[in-house]
Amino acid sequence: MLHRQMFNMAAVGVSGFVASLLWHGAQSGPVAGLGGSTTAHATLASVNGVFLALLCCVVFTLFNTALVFLAARLSPDGGAPSLWDREAFLVDCVELCVGVTVAILAQLSLFLLVIAVPPVLLLQRSLVYQQLQTAARTDPKTGLLNAPTWEREAASQIARARESRGRAAVLIVDIDHFKRVNDTYGHLFGDQVLLGVATTISQQLRESDLLGRFGGEEFVVLLPGSDVTEAWQAAERLRSQVGRMEIAVDEVPVSITISIGVAVVGDHGDDLVELLTAADLALYRAKETGRDRVCLPAGRPEVSRRIPGPREGGVYDGGSADNRP
Ligand code: GH3
Ligand code: MG
Ligand code: MG
Repeated sequence: MLHRQMFNMAAVGVSGFVASLLWHGAQSGPVAGLGGSTTAHATLASVNGVFLALLCCVVFTLFNTALVFLAARLSPDGGAPSLWDREAFLVDCVELCVGVTVAILAQLSLFLLVIAVPPVLLLQRSLVYQQLQTAARTDPKTGLLNAPTWEREAASQIARARESRGRAAVLIVDIDHFKRVNDTYGHLFGDQVLLGVATTISQQLRESDLLGRFGGEEFVVLLPGSDVTEAWQAAERLRSQVGRMEIAVDEVPVSITISIGVAVVGDHGDDLVELLTAADLALYRAKETGRDRVCLPAGRPEVSRRIPGPREGGVYDGGSADNRP
């Protein structure tokens, strides 16, 4: 977005100005610059110069990050941006190294700046590559992992869980009567609901859980390390939180419910395909038996019932063969 690009350019300019103040201020102070009269002094001076340049890089990065963080927190979109992921850190380092190199070349001769053009262009292209890589992994409407990426990552985590005799569970989450929402309030509102549900679900999950948009109004979750009871509790938490979401059209509240199918490694399947099939079957049961509920697949283990919500005052007792919905 144009205003973000303008802000980024301004933030880089202000941060560069602060780093420049530090550089020039320190050079006229006790820390020596890049010059020197004797060989020993020159070496010391250049070591100090490199140290000072690195310090300026750190100041630049901190200042720039603080500005971006502040703007992101104050923006109406809200949310804390992820500023320190590995990729961004590597790109920042390369950018700063190129910046220092360009500054040194410019001091020696402006003609030498020609040498700096190819690495700068390459750096620019690597940024685009990174954006493309992120776009290829995520669903544009919700920002969640897209189906192929989720499947790839979930399959490898399930295989690892099987090898180490560990536990894991798969949930398929489907918004109830979503077509009606679209038909009544329009597709744009439907998209807002999708984003709202995606955000609510992701806020309820642990860092290690894997959430993706499976397609349409369906989401998939992998819960590493969870058994039937834990997966059930997690699914119930998602169901009740989505049910409490506050969405309104012209100040008229619209309530959204979800149905969830749960399948657990070992109990309902041994690989991703089997688990998805079982969870889909469970979801089908949830839909058939009234929606707004969590279900396990029929068969092993014989537990499948809706946990009464807090309003109904019930607790999950582990289930039995007779209390299927
Ligand atoms: P059920 O409770 O049985 O799941 O009913 P449903 O209406 O949710 O399910 P159905 O499969 O009949 O309809 C799904 C709807 O989801 C139809 C489609 O228009 C809508 N949909 C799929 N993807 C999107 C999207 O990206 N944005 C919007 N707004 N709607 C979408
Ligand atoms: Mg569906
Ligand atoms: Mg649906």
